[in-house]
Amino acid sequence: SPTIVWLRDDLRVADNPALNAAVERGGDVVVLDVLDDESDEVRPIGSASRWWLHHSLTALAADLDALGAGLTLRRGPAEKVVMAVVDEVGAGAVHWNRRYGKAREVDARLKTALKDRDIEAVSHAANLLFEPWTVQTGSGGPYGVFTPFWKACLARDEPRAPLEAPASIPGRAVEGDDLDSWELLPTAPDWAGGMRDEWTPGSTGGRERLEQLAEERLADYHRRDEPGFEVTSQLSPHLRFGEVSPYQVWHRLRDGLSGLAAKNHAKFLSELGWREFSYHLLFHNPDLATVNYRREFDAYPWNDPHDAGLARWQKGRTGIPIVDAGMRQLWHIGWMHNRVRMITASFLTKNLQIDWRVGEEWFWDTLVDADEASNAASWQWVAGSGADAAPYFRVFNPVLQAQKFDPRNEYVARWVPEEGTDDYPEPMVDLKESRQAALDGYEAVKAAK
Ligand code: FAD
Repeated sequence: SPTIVWLRDDLRVADNPALNAAVERGGDVVVLDVLDDESDEVRPIGSASRWWLHHSLTALAADLDALGAGLTLRRGPAEKVVMAVVDEVGAGAVHWNRRYGKAREVDARLKTALKDRDIEAVSHAANLLFEPWTVQTGSGGPYGVFTPFWKACLARDEPRAPLEAPASIPGRAVEGDDLDSWELLPTAPDWAGGMRDEWTPGSTGGRERLEQLAEERLADYHRRDEPGFEVTSQLSPHLRFGEVSPYQVWHRLRDGLSGLAAKNHAKFLSELGWREFSYHLLFHNPDLATVNYRREFDAYPWNDPHDAGLARWQKGRTGIPIVDAGMRQLWHIGWMHNRVRMITASFLTKNLQIDWRVGEEWFWDTLVDADEASNAASWQWVAGSGADAAPYFRVFNPVLQAQKFDPRNEYVARWVPEEGTDDYPEPMVDLKESRQAALDGYEAVKAAK
C-alpha cells in the first residue's frame, strides 16, 4: 500500500527521516504538503514567511522531481486533508517529522484516528538535536535556565550523522493545488525585492550558506555582535523551514579545533543550543507567544501601542539610528542581525513600554525566519518576562550599543543614509526619561511577585 509523507517544517530531501522511512517501507510514496490556516492549534504564518514558503516549495518540488516523486499540495485543516488523501490513495501508512508547538495536538489526534483504522502513523525526530522531553533536570523537570540545559545536552551522545537522500523515490502522483493558487507572494505593492536579492530559499541555498559558514565566516565568528560585519551564518530561515537540518549543520563543522577556532565553533554550537532551548521552552509552555513565562509580568502597565508610537518603530522612523537601521533591514530583507533584534526589542518594550507581544507579532509577520519557539522565547527574554531572561533593569542604551557594536557607523549608514540631514526625525523619546519610566513600571511587577 502507498505511504504518505506529510511534510511540515522539513522541506528537504536529504536527512529527512520520514521520507527515508517511507521509501524503505516499499510501495508508492505520496509526498504531501498542506497549507493549514484553519486549525485552531496552528498559527498562520506571516507575510514574509509566505514569500519564503512559496520559493522553498518550488525548490523542493524540483528536488523531488529529480528523485522521481512529485509534490502534492493541498490546502485546509491538516487532519481532514491528510485523511482525505489517505482515502483517495488507500494509504497504509503516514509518516511525518515532529513539530513541537501547539500544533502537535493536531498530530496526536491524527495519529489516534489513523491507528483506529489500522493505518500506520509514525513520527520521527528530525528538526531538533535533542527531543525536548528527553532533556531533564536532576529532579526530572524541564530546564528554565540555558547554561545547565546546554551542558546537559552536550553531555549526551553526539547527535546522529545526517541521512543521505533516497537514491530514488517511487512517487505517486495525486491531484493537488497549483502553488500559485495559494497566493503566498505579495501582489501590489511588491515588497519582496530586497528579499529576492538577499536569499535563495531551498536546500541548495541553505547548503551554500552552510559552506560559507564553514569555509569563511566561522573564523570571524567572535565578531558576531557587529551588525556591519557579516559573519553570522544567516542559516535561520533555512533551519526554520527545515531546508537544512541541525544534524547537517552539526556534522559539517569541524571538531578538534584549538584556540580561537575552537572557541568560535563552541560558540556557534551554543547558538544552535539557544534554538534547542527555545523549543524546549515551547514544548513545555505551548502558549509561549502569548503568555508571560513569569506570570508576575501580567501586572506590567503597558502603554497603548498606537499612542506610544508603534508605527514609527515599525517604519524605522524613531529618530534613534541603530533602531531605525534594524527595523529597515527587517522590512527590506526579512531578517535582522541578532544584536539589533535585541536593541530594537528593548527599545519597544522599555523605552516605548509597548507589550512584547505586539513586537513579537510584527516580527512574526516580517521575518523570513519567524519561528514559533525562538521568536517568542527571545521577545520574552528581552522583555524580562521570559525564562533565564535579561534582568528587567538592564535597559539597553541604543546610542551606547551603536558606539560599541557599530563603531564605524557602517551598519547605520547602510540603512539610514539620511541620518544627520533634515529628513531624519528627532528622537521620539528621551532615552533617560523613558528608561526611568520603564523602571517605574517594573515596580508593579515586583509588587505582583
Ligand atoms: P547565527 O549566529 O549564525 O546562529 C546560528 C543559528 O542558531 C541560527 O540560524 C538560529 O537557528 C540559531 N540561533 C542563533 N541565536 C539564537 C537565539 N538567540 N535564539 C534561538 N536561536 C538562535 N531566531 C529565529 O530563528 N527566529 C525568530 O523568529 C527569531 N526571533 C528573534 C526575536 C528577537 C527579539 C531576538 C532578540 C532574537 C530572535 N531570534 C530568532 C534569534 C536570533 O536573532 C536569530 O536566530 C539569528 O539572528 C539568526 O541569524 P543567523 O542565522 O545568522 O545566526
